[in-house]
Amino acid sequence: MQTIGQGTFGTVKLSQHVVTRQKVAIKIIEKASVTEDKQRNSLQREIRLVQLLHHRHIVKVYDVLEDATAVFFIMEYVSGGELFDYIVQKRSLSEWEARIFFRQMLSAMDYCHKNSIIHRDLKPENLLIDSNKCVKIIDFGFGNTFHRDKFLTTFCGSPFYAAPEMLGAKSYVGPEVDVWSLGVILYAMVTGSLPFHTEVLPELLKRIKSAEYHMPSKLSPNLADLIRRMLTVDTKKRIKLSEIIKSK
Ligand code: ATP
Ligand code: MG
Repeated sequence: MQTIGQGTFGTVKLSQHVVTRQKVAIKIIEKASVTEDKQRNSLQREIRLVQLLHHRHIVKVYDVLEDATAVFFIMEYVSGGELFDYIVQKRSLSEWEARIFFRQMLSAMDYCHKNSIIHRDLKPENLLIDSNKCVKIIDFGFGNTFHRDKFLTTFCGSPFYAAPEMLGAKSYVGPEVDVWSLGVILYAMVTGSLPFHTEVLPELLKRIKSAEYHMPSKLSPNLADLIRRMLTVDTKKRIKLSEIIKSK
């Protein structure tokens, strides 16, 4: 089987249904690579979550199978590659095109949050583009359920996309960390660069915690304002997903 992706835990292979000839992607997670209790719990959560999600901008998982050595996620195959490569190839996207992708992400994440599910690892490597140029969100490996009155503290995902409250191991409810990551993604789409980017980790953390980034003057005022409201350190003042949707 052809390998089409490699993640930290999973290898993703391309396969085909014997009868229907439909292409499927199979993410294989070797049980031997999942050694810690925390990782085992995350895998169990991913298995549970992906089977609950049904949305046109979230990759469809048809089945999850398991044998003694591995877990297999049988998914819809998304042929257009990662949004990351798409941005790199075009250098940056027009505001018009970015808005189309962004709306699709918003719709998928609004659906998740309304069902008390957070992703916690939103980044352009986990956003695929299908043959109709539609976004499909993948990889709920850091996903979780949240409750309005309960707090989470686990740091998840890539620091470049991580909200400040996640970095200091502070507590957070959930949806607000996805809003921050979506803000970083929106910025990355229209500028072709990351708002917070340095190889020096302490410096990176400092910049994120104080929302210290450069806003290019070429961005339209409305878009710049939206990015600013999403990349707001104070979670109480950070724009909510429902407000972004209303303001569109
Ligand atoms: P991570 O290192 O982010 O935790 P992971 O091990 O959880 O990764 P995924 O992010 O789910 O694995 O998948 C790894 C890569 O495989 C993706 O970035 C993507 O390029 C490719 N891939 C995953 N699912 C699909 C799919 N349904 N169709 C096409 N390619 C896919
Ligand atoms: Mg991934």
